[in-house]
Amino acid sequence: MQAVSYIAGMAQDTISTLAGSVRAGLACACPRCGRGKLFRGFLSLRPRCDVCGLDYGFADSGDGPAVFIMFLAGAIVVGAALVTEALYHPPYWVHAVLWLPLIFILTLGPLRPMKGLMIALQYHHKAAESRFGGDRA
Ligand SMILES: [Zn+2]
Repeated sequence: MQAVSYIAGMAQDTISTLAGSVRAGLACACPRCGRGKLFRGFLSLRPRCDVCGLDYGFADSGDGPAVFIMFLAGAIVVGAALVTEALYHPPYWVHAVLWLPLIFILTLGPLRPMKGLMIALQYHHKAAESRFGGDRA
């Protein structure tokens, strides 16, 4: 009886839905409990969750967050620069003043939430690097 309530309590503390995982990832929180912090520095991970103790050793988002952000920010900045040039023909220094800060905002701003999101989705889908040989490791 006590074991059942213990398991039910654990189930309440873990995130089981995709929407919950996405929320925890965007909030840069632990992908299992959603309450512990994920990052120690700007992009470096803590070794484990402070709240539930999940080992973050599995987390390997690689270049994924940077690639998604580069494509999105590149499309926005290049599109805006082309439209501005076609409509107003401003001098080059205006382009530098407009687009350099926008590049920093659009790339550095969403980098942490995007990395958190990719780690949360990796945890949710139990994604791992594939190996040859199955169980033989
Ligand atoms: Zn946790």
